Amino acid sequence: MSTNGASAPAPLGLLAELTHRCPLGCPYCSNPLALDPRSDELDAATWARVFREASALGVLQVHLSGGEPAARRDLPEIVKAARDANLYSNLITSAVGLTAEGLSKLADAGLDHVQISIQDSEPASADHIAGYKGASARKHALAAEVVRLGLPLTVNVVVHRANIARVEAMVEMALALGATRVEIAHVQYYGWALKNRAALMPSRAQVEEAVGIVERLRQAHRGRIVIDAVIPDYYARFPKPCVGGWGRRSLNVTPAGRVLPCHAAEVIPGLEFWNVRAHTLADIWRSSPAFEAFRGTDWMQEPCKSCALKEKDFGGCRCQAFLLAGDARAADPVCHLSPHHATVERLAGERADAAYAYRHS
Ligand code: SF4
Ligand code: SF4
Repeated sequence: MSTNGASAPAPLGLLAELTHRCPLGCPYCSNPLALDPRSDELDAATWARVFREASALGVLQVHLSGGEPAARRDLPEIVKAARDANLYSNLITSAVGLTAEGLSKLADAGLDHVQISIQDSEPASADHIAGYKGASARKHALAAEVVRLGLPLTVNVVVHRANIARVEAMVEMALALGATRVEIAHVQYYGWALKNRAALMPSRAQVEEAVGIVERLRQAHRGRIVIDAVIPDYYARFPKPCVGGWGRRSLNVTPAGRVLPCHAAEVIPGLEFWNVRAHTLADIWRSSPAFEAFRGTDWMQEPCKSCALKEKDFGGCRCQAFLLAGDARAADPVCHLSPHHATVERLAGERADAAYAYRHS
């Protein structure tokens, strides 16, 4: 199937990166190495317009993300705009910088769901990974407040070499906090994580053990908590259908208003991203060059072009193809059919106990 913008399905989700500012410094942060400055951030009125346009386009859910979205003083106004546009709003927060009073204002403004990232079940390790002393205690306190307000809570844990041995403890921690869902997401190696890859990469044996533990916990806790798990690409045989397929399910708006098919898309040179300041979201979704570049399957080359799985995984991740194979049209090198797969195996074996290069604002 080849798809162009005019016949593209409606997007379901919008990731609204309200700011790149964040008090934490996670070495796997998905923000780009070059962060959008505060002076370029969209104002609340523009976000409100973007939410109305998203809703008209078919979007159901908006993820209010960052950086740390609570770094914006006008966050209640932005949450209210999402509610007014009939979007289900999910706040993705580090919990640092968001007080109980601030959270209560967001609940009053119509916030539907909160997702808190927790770096580890051991507080000292969690603070070290976040690069912020006391972060863990603040996260636990805010999680309790979320539950007290009756908002559904998801705990998100990014897994890597420093915490992979505690997957079980982290699921127990999420249960104890009253979360209804826990996301065990292995680091994806883009941006800051790519910079820190050797310091973050677990071994194959560690990953296989963690996958087995998650499976066992899923059975054990069925009905009590939903456990979502994202397997690390570098140890997979097939790639994941990145963002559900380029330009098929979701859009990502940066703090300065550029609209991307996925959060890492700016690493691919030559793509032209349109901005919500100059175009409507519907126009961008249907016609912007960046969304059109890898929609459908016409852009593919071998081995994807004649592969039976091409409608299933859409050739994997375009950013990873560029970063590891030097060609955004190549099969994702994570795929064992890719001629570049040996590179992934070699890189997975490069592990070093180096100090983290912390992300900085
Ligand atoms: S530094 Fe950490 S908490 Fe802050 S935006 Fe990045 S990943 Fe999220
Ligand atoms: S060859 Fe391409 S389409 Fe086939 S499984 Fe690998 S990445 Fe997916």
